[in-house]
Amino acid sequence: MNLILLGPPGAGKGTQAGRLMKNLGMVQLSTGDMLRAAVAAGTPVGLAAKSVMESGGLVSDEIVNGILSERLDQPDARAGFILDGYPRTTVQAHALDAMLAQKDLALDHVIELVVDEDALVERITGRFTCANCGEGYHDHFKLPVTPGVCDACGSTQFKRRADDNEATVRQRMAEYRAKTAPILPHYAARGIFSRVDGMADMDAVAQSIDAIF
Ligand code: AMP
Repeated sequence: MNLILLGPPGAGKGTQAGRLMKNLGMVQLSTGDMLRAAVAAGTPVGLAAKSVMESGGLVSDEIVNGILSERLDQPDARAGFILDGYPRTTVQAHALDAMLAQKDLALDHVIELVVDEDALVERITGRFTCANCGEGYHDHFKLPVTPGVCDACGSTQFKRRADDNEATVRQRMAEYRAKTAPILPHYAARGIFSRVDGMADMDAVAQSIDAIF
């Protein structure tokens, strides 16, 4: 099964993708994670993407299409993938159609997590992860059981994303509304599009997604 998870930043795409990865053996393909890795490694793609990402804008379609296409060519993508944060524009949606046709792959479901934007700002600005294993936490909703120690791996190092501040989050949401939401009818017309209430708790969202499958 191959799917796309859509929704504004903080809608829970990463959380749900992580769960599907564990439960169904699918691979999560997050263009945001790929770009952050490129920024950290200081590659030419990273250098081009860094300031755009910090401002909450969108990295060029050309760059993102290139990294996604390469990633789809790795053998693990054949076991079923979850696109998290891609496509984000009409140009990307059309590029994805062409890529999948050329690679003999097909989409089974496109799912949008629908959320309340003001609640999202609180959700995003409070989030942080374990720097060692990536376990997710939140200042208000999910602190480690022992303060300062990761529940999953015991590490005492945590990190926050540079773009998880209110101004950047609001810009990322505006980008979603203006450039990403318009691609939804493209999938609705093909009968593979569903919406899920992303404000429900994590398990309820998971159940709604499983019901679609
Ligand atoms: P994310 O982790 O999906 O929230 O992405 C973080 C940032 O990376 C976004 O705010 C964009 O600047 C950039 N980005 C990630 N995916 C894409 C994409 N498909 N198209 C353009 N920019 C992207």
